Amino acid sequence: MRNNFPDYRGNMEYYCLGCDQRYGIDELLYTCPSCGGVLMLHDAAFASLKAKSGEEWRALFDTRAASKLDALRGIFRFYEIMAPVLEPEDIIYLGEGNTPVINASPTLREAIGANFAIKNDGQNPSASFKDRGMACAFSYLRALIRKHGWDEVLTICASTGDTSAAAALYAAYVGGPVKSVVLLPQGKVTPQQLGQPLGSGATVIELPGVFDDCMKVVEDLARNYRVALLNSKNAWRILGQESYAFEAAQWRDWDMRDLCLFVPIGNAGNITAVLNGFLKLHELNIIARLPRIFGVQSSHADPVFRYYEQESAAGTGKAEFKAVKVRPSVAQAAMIGNPVSFPRVRRLVAKYRELAGDRAFQVVRVSEQDIIESMLLANRHGHIVCTQGGESLAGLREALRQKLVGANEFSLIDSTAHMLKFAGFQEHYFADDFAPEYEIKPDGALKNAPLPLFSQAEKDALTETEYVRRASVAVADQLGLKAR
Ligand SMILES: *Cc1c(COP(=O)(O)O)cnc(C)c1O
Ligand SMILES: [Zn+2]
Repeated sequence: MRNNFPDYRGNMEYYCLGCDQRYGIDELLYTCPSCGGVLMLHDAAFASLKAKSGEEWRALFDTRAASKLDALRGIFRFYEIMAPVLEPEDIIYLGEGNTPVINASPTLREAIGANFAIKNDGQNPSASFKDRGMACAFSYLRALIRKHGWDEVLTICASTGDTSAAAALYAAYVGGPVKSVVLLPQGKVTPQQLGQPLGSGATVIELPGVFDDCMKVVEDLARNYRVALLNSKNAWRILGQESYAFEAAQWRDWDMRDLCLFVPIGNAGNITAVLNGFLKLHELNIIARLPRIFGVQSSHADPVFRYYEQESAAGTGKAEFKAVKVRPSVAQAAMIGNPVSFPRVRRLVAKYRELAGDRAFQVVRVSEQDIIESMLLANRHGHIVCTQGGESLAGLREALRQKLVGANEFSLIDSTAHMLKFAGFQEHYFADDFAPEYEIKPDGALKNAPLPLFSQAEKDALTETEYVRRASVAVADQLGLKAR
């Protein structure tokens, strides 16, 4: 069936979480000009969407899943509830979204002791979920460029690796006036993540320190110079990332009963988007109830966990947020001590819990050992899970240990990037050479290593025929093969 681009146009505006001030979207804003607070975007006409029933929306999104229009094939399948101000010619589609949900293999299900599936967001174009947000942010940027006739736009971001890979990719695709600059903490991104923006032709600047230090520099740049900030302070990125929640709901056929989601928290942009996405679906009756959401943090970068731990002891609204100093983590993409989106999380969690109860949002903390071993365990049972996906899965295991998840519940694990970006951590585990700060002691059962059989010198001393025969015998001996 043919799908035309929707007619609906919303009335989007920024609103400040600090002072509730509203601002038009003609300008790129990152923080509130009057109080400095974090901004969110919403459609002031959102309530008008209730003219359609939940059932009609579900049918529309289900039909649209077959659309052949580039502008509707990716995250903009959910156009009306995401960024309904963009014109189709501005929308960028690089194949983001629509990532596979893989049911846990029977043996992994047994090993974990729960029923669950993994949504592999590593199968996005730059191999992480960051592409969802970039597709939206760059589409909006294209609209601005068209409108204002800008001849040069410098996009800039700080990154734990994946934001810069995604930003550089989309900037390279858009081309023209758009130039990409990324700021990385030296030695704190993987070689693969460093290779990505370099390959896309971005200007890559390395700075000492960790992500939190780079973020401060980028914020200073955004305050004092004309640059387009692409960190998740940019509320357009949050909108695009809401597509994760929409897809998850659609995959469950919009039935949220007994569903728990596990999401790693770093800068807290992703969890913000997931919370907001489900709240929108609920408000339009597209889903009848809210699923339970578990944020997961490593004990080496756990400011959000600490906040909610304090709040559950002291009472709602009585906790005080404190940034933490991070320690090295294999979930390096989430190794952030002062999450920029925390004020968003606090606000949305309060709303979420008001609608669905305190158990509807919880944060669990996991060890580095559990993170890497959950990743390895998932992968050796046929999945492709990155270290942050390992963190999500470790979160499920921790929730099971604490009996926070019941036997009748089904969990969806967010694996946020492709495993290959983090292959170095697997190597450290197999070689048992993690720096002591990681606090990881490999378990023999999960180790694996290549078996060298012949040396080059031994091979060189033989004719080819001799070598092939001898090597074949050696392999057969190694494997204990029987002759036929
Ligand atoms: C950015 C990132 C995270 C953390 O997401 P936030 O939105 O910063 O909380 C987790 N995993 C991967 C792979 C990432 O790139
Ligand atoms: Zn404000």
